[in-house]
Amino acid sequence: MSEEARSLNFLEHIIEEDLRNGFPKEALRFRFPPEPNGYLHIGHASSICLNFGLGLRYNAPVNLRFDDTNPAKEEQEFVDAIKEDVRWLGFDWDTERYASDYFQQLFDWAVLLIKEGKAYVDSQTSEEMAEQKGTPTEAGVESPFRHRSIEENLKLFEGMKAGEYDEGTHVLRAKIDMTSSNMLMRDPIMYRVLHKAHHRTNTDWCIYPMYDWTHGESDYIEQVSHSYCTLEFAMHRELYDWFLDQVYDEAKVRPKQREFARRNLSHTVVSKRKLAKLVEQGVVGGWDDPRMSTISGMRRRGYTPESIRNFADTIGIAKRDNLIDVSLLEFQVRDHLNKVAPRVHGVLNPLKLVITNYLKGEVEWVEAENNPEDESAGTRQVPFSRELYIEQEDFREEANKKFFRLKLGKEVRLKNGYIIKAESCSKDAEGNVTEVQCTYDPKSKSGSGSEESLRKVKGTLHWVSIAHALSAEIRIYDRLFTDESPDTHKDKDFMEFVNPDSLKTITGYLEPHLANAKVGDTFQFQRMGYFCVDPDTTSDKLIFNKTVGLRDSWAKIQQKT
Ligand code: ATP
Ligand code: MG
Repeated sequence: MSEEARSLNFLEHIIEEDLRNGFPKEALRFRFPPEPNGYLHIGHASSICLNFGLGLRYNAPVNLRFDDTNPAKEEQEFVDAIKEDVRWLGFDWDTERYASDYFQQLFDWAVLLIKEGKAYVDSQTSEEMAEQKGTPTEAGVESPFRHRSIEENLKLFEGMKAGEYDEGTHVLRAKIDMTSSNMLMRDPIMYRVLHKAHHRTNTDWCIYPMYDWTHGESDYIEQVSHSYCTLEFAMHRELYDWFLDQVYDEAKVRPKQREFARRNLSHTVVSKRKLAKLVEQGVVGGWDDPRMSTISGMRRRGYTPESIRNFADTIGIAKRDNLIDVSLLEFQVRDHLNKVAPRVHGVLNPLKLVITNYLKGEVEWVEAENNPEDESAGTRQVPFSRELYIEQEDFREEANKKFFRLKLGKEVRLKNGYIIKAESCSKDAEGNVTEVQCTYDPKSKSGSGSEESLRKVKGTLHWVSIAHALSAEIRIYDRLFTDESPDTHKDKDFMEFVNPDSLKTITGYLEPHLANAKVGDTFQFQRMGYFCVDPDTTSDKLIFNKTVGLRDSWAKIQQKT
């Protein structure tokens, strides 16, 4: 096997085999078929990367098809959000399609099926039909309406379309086999009456086609060659093929449905319905809340399209459902941001530090590298002065030898600045340290080339000059759910596992350079993690989201508890 062939996933192997068997390469065509009933999530990102990835690999068109057959739940807002998300992930579709564009064609084909005696109008209640369905081991019972005359069926179906009947009074069913071992083949419903306006066809229709009747025929109309969907549709494949058989013309491409495993991510839910519940109940601020597993939430959080694509590539395409640890996604985010995010100084829990031998009122602009991983990112100037903020956790009066930060009588380097030595500290009534007094070595300035500047000290701290610091709101996120798999418990609803402490808001102090930061810009606050400017930012209030830490601290926290 060649190197190339070895890296193919099983869905690509199917295509390769079809090509070997003579399927023309130029007839390859794929689609990504979201239902516009919510925002896309990380599971959809896998499907997008798969389908659009196939398009790139085989230089074949990929359609974006909205599966919009249920007007009760679908909205234009979701269509717009889905398009934005697919583009943001870095993909472009060949044509934008809607299942609703095919309502007339689907109706005409349904009439054809009735005329061929392959579909009938059933006028029973849904309960009656459910009772006749049987079980996987027991054959179903035929509906008393199964042998209606073609004329009567046509008249009733036209009446359904014309709005003469109430919801629930009649459905159109395919006449297949009530004894099939596949329950989906037991006369599945093709149409139901729904007196609801549709976001695109408005009130043109009051009967709407079911998923199974729509999906395969839409693939056929668009001449999609390989229709890849998730495993829950494996049993539907027989019906997909049966419906295709009714309309298939041999001169055309016959779409092939195959299935792959759904991707589930730990500590979250990947289901539009469940994500909608979090929004509706106000657990999160909206679909794009940075704690959500939606693509828009991840974008707002500061995740990059590259990191999401790399994540999808790394986990690959599986044949069995499985749970992917969210730390794998975070690893990809960190890995990419490390390469591209500019470094800045930002202090999140400030402690005042006074350099007693530094001139009052003096300000020096020290040079700082923007990104040690990328020389072309250049440098910037950062103000240094007598009074600075450092992190509270970076100072201790006393500590053991493993504490490489600041302690009384010891030295550290202030990043891009000088070596300082802690001389004394002040405390409040409760004994909390409120200020540290230190001295600096004037010859030790970073980058000056002096012997002292090259002197090695164990710790390096970030800092900001108090007089120049910008204050900003910093939103720090934790997992949205305390349980790894919140929606897999038989006796508990996923909502019971919502983490009450998933958002913490603090005030941070940042170097003044950040006054120019734009919404969506991401930075590494050195030693603290990656942070991204939130759209809630206004001209007088800068707001950052913590994207991800520098290291995986969740695993550690879990071990302790
Ligand atoms: P949801 O339950 O979140 O609404 P869905 O499968 O009903 O998911 P669709 O809009 O119908 O959502 O899905 C569009 C495409 O994305 C389908 O081909 C579907 O199989 C795929 N998809 C959805 N969720 C996942 C997932 N978790 N992993 C991989 N593919 C997914
Ligand atoms: Mg769905």
